[in-house]
Amino acid sequence: MFQPDLTNCDREPIHIPGRVQSHGFIVVTGEDDQITHVSANITAFTGIDATSMPGKKSSILDEVLGKKPTGFLSQLVSLGQHPDGFRPNNPYRVTIAGNPWNLIINQSPEHYLFEFEPERTDLESELQHKVGRSLSEMLADKELSELLNNVAVQIKKIIHYDRVMIYKFHNDGHGEVVAETKNEELEPWLGLHYPASDIPQQARELYKLNLVRLIADVHTEPAALLTHEEQPLNLTNSGLRAVSPIHIQYLKNMGVASSFSVSILDRDKLWGLIACHNYTTRFINFNQRESAKLVGQVLSSAISFRQQEEDQNLLSKSRESISTLTRSLLHGSSIPDALFAAEGELLKVVGATGAAFVFEKKTYTTGQVPGEKFLNELCEWLSINVEDCYASSNFASEFSAAKEQQNTVSGLLTCRLSKELNEFIIWFRPERIAYVNWAGNPEKPTSTTESGLMTISPRESFKVWSQEVHQHSLPWEHGDHAAANQLREEINFAISRRATELRVLNEKLREAYNELDTFSYTISHDLKHPLTTIKSYAQLIVRATDQERMRNMAGRINDGAVKMQAMIEEVLQYSRVGQARVERKAINMQHLLDELRHDLLIAFNQPEIQIEIGNAPELEGDQLMIQQVFSNLIGNAVKYSSKAEQPKVKVEGQRIGQKVMYTISDNGIGIDQKDFGKIFDLFSRADAGKEFEGSGVGLSIVKRIIEKHQGKIWLESERHQGTRFFVEFPLN
Ligand code: ADP
Repeated sequence: MFQPDLTNCDREPIHIPGRVQSHGFIVVTGEDDQITHVSANITAFTGIDATSMPGKKSSILDEVLGKKPTGFLSQLVSLGQHPDGFRPNNPYRVTIAGNPWNLIINQSPEHYLFEFEPERTDLESELQHKVGRSLSEMLADKELSELLNNVAVQIKKIIHYDRVMIYKFHNDGHGEVVAETKNEELEPWLGLHYPASDIPQQARELYKLNLVRLIADVHTEPAALLTHEEQPLNLTNSGLRAVSPIHIQYLKNMGVASSFSVSILDRDKLWGLIACHNYTTRFINFNQRESAKLVGQVLSSAISFRQQEEDQNLLSKSRESISTLTRSLLHGSSIPDALFAAEGELLKVVGATGAAFVFEKKTYTTGQVPGEKFLNELCEWLSINVEDCYASSNFASEFSAAKEQQNTVSGLLTCRLSKELNEFIIWFRPERIAYVNWAGNPEKPTSTTESGLMTISPRESFKVWSQEVHQHSLPWEHGDHAAANQLREEINFAISRRATELRVLNEKLREAYNELDTFSYTISHDLKHPLTTIKSYAQLIVRATDQERMRNMAGRINDGAVKMQAMIEEVLQYSRVGQARVERKAINMQHLLDELRHDLLIAFNQPEIQIEIGNAPELEGDQLMIQQVFSNLIGNAVKYSSKAEQPKVKVEGQRIGQKVMYTISDNGIGIDQKDFGKIFDLFSRADAGKEFEGSGVGLSIVKRIIEKHQGKIWLESERHQGTRFFVEFPLN
């Protein structure tokens, strides 16, 4: 059998005690309706021999329950097979030996639990009526402490226990009586603290599952379960589940005969208990316990609501600092600079006295912080032990080096920036010496047996035992965690935004580099041609004697220089487009195209050239840039069709939804499909057009401008047939 000792107290399997409280009895069946377990005390209540029951069908109970021999319990099981289980129908009323009993059905993983409890109660009146009236009185106060007091007072009025306390669990699991009403002659326990081992972890878990718990009489022997099964029966969902012997002893030491508790939950956390003690035995029946459960649920919602309000208040205090830091993260030159620029803001986020930021293998600090060696060790510890966020108001109990740092690091709250990297934001709080009144010395819950074995033995004295608590900081509240988390998100957002910006910059740099490459190529290749001309004619002049020839050669030098100048001018134009801002406005295309047409006809001075302007819907864009686009495209169309028999150029626009598309078509030399891609590159020309004057810059400028306007350009063409360029611009 399980022997609790100091090391295993937290592991005592209190959900499988193998016994039930003796004010009722239990019958357990398996899936096949065979009785698997029965409590030995059934014999005393019903006269049936308990030892003969395991293995029999549940119908053997029909007679004592005053039912027809049709298998009453198995019928109830089939009735209860719906999504909510048996809960809505509990309790069933049955009569045993002429007395009314409540039958409560619950399920454990492989069993049905039939619990029989007397319907009689030690309360005079029905709880439900009183509860309704009391709820509004309980909730009347806005202050949490007043609300808790009201609840204690009202509960005492309803269930008449000698002492009703509201017991709150602190983050480390220890409890405190935060409200109390009691019979006058009793000692007050208000404000007393109880060590976490008084209600160990697994007991706290059960309080979350069973919202009410009655221990009707601590002095009666629990009834053993009789069974042929070897596996212990899981009694988590049983109301009759026997109480841990340690807890029974604990209550006895307190002089308590009967205890009743109602769980208080804050969201999914056990906030505390409405703990009721009576100094004589007291039984409350199922319906009355359900009513008390309702009070607990109402109180739970009220506490959750107020707790959320408090969190919000705390968060709104931090919010100002978080916004200041967020703004600075948006504009600051680096993440650490942004966090540490505004004096003290980082500390204000969670009300800390010191903070450290571990980022890109460097540690930045502000306020009162421990030395470098400690910080390095701390970072190592955090990288192993902290995955997400972590807080402790007694960090020395986790990390012994913190014992010597109580003036800076009694409390620590930290968030890891990302799972992959050892980067943290850490806040520190100093020691705040506190005085705690324990209900008895909390440090001696053990005693030694005759054989020298150390065992848990609940303390016998609950006399106030005052303690000066060291190495503890002010506790970190829920709102502090929320604020820390929010700042972490802002930092991560800033980091990823900067990473994106960096990628965009990189991309631009790559483009600029490619362009630079082309530029150098051009300078070395394309400008070489006119330079060679200039050089060779200059050499000839040096040697020439004939005046006329010299003049001629000087003319060629001039041509070369003019050509170079034109090329340099075009390169400059192209680079200017890259830097210029687009000044968007509506453009009257009819007017713009008419002027272009007029200028081109003069420039080409070929009467047979026809330039037809069709529909010309408005565009949105930069007037000068759009003019450059059409001047280049129509100019090319005229140029490359100028040798056709009847050169014909047509410009036509149309609006398609939120876009405007223009087509510029000609009947010129056309472009080979293989050259479609390259003609938009700087200084790149199609083979077919080489006999025409040109530099290969125009279309690169056109493409650049169109991209700046979020537009598109493409073409259709066939050699000797002509070319059609399409340009499309979005309208805002
Ligand atoms: P260029 O100064 O050589 O005209 P562009 O960049 O304006 O430079 O055009 C690039 C190349 O595209 C031209 O060299 C020519 O080969 C081809 N091209 C452009 N427009 C036309 C057109 N309408 N018809 C035939 N070829 C064209």
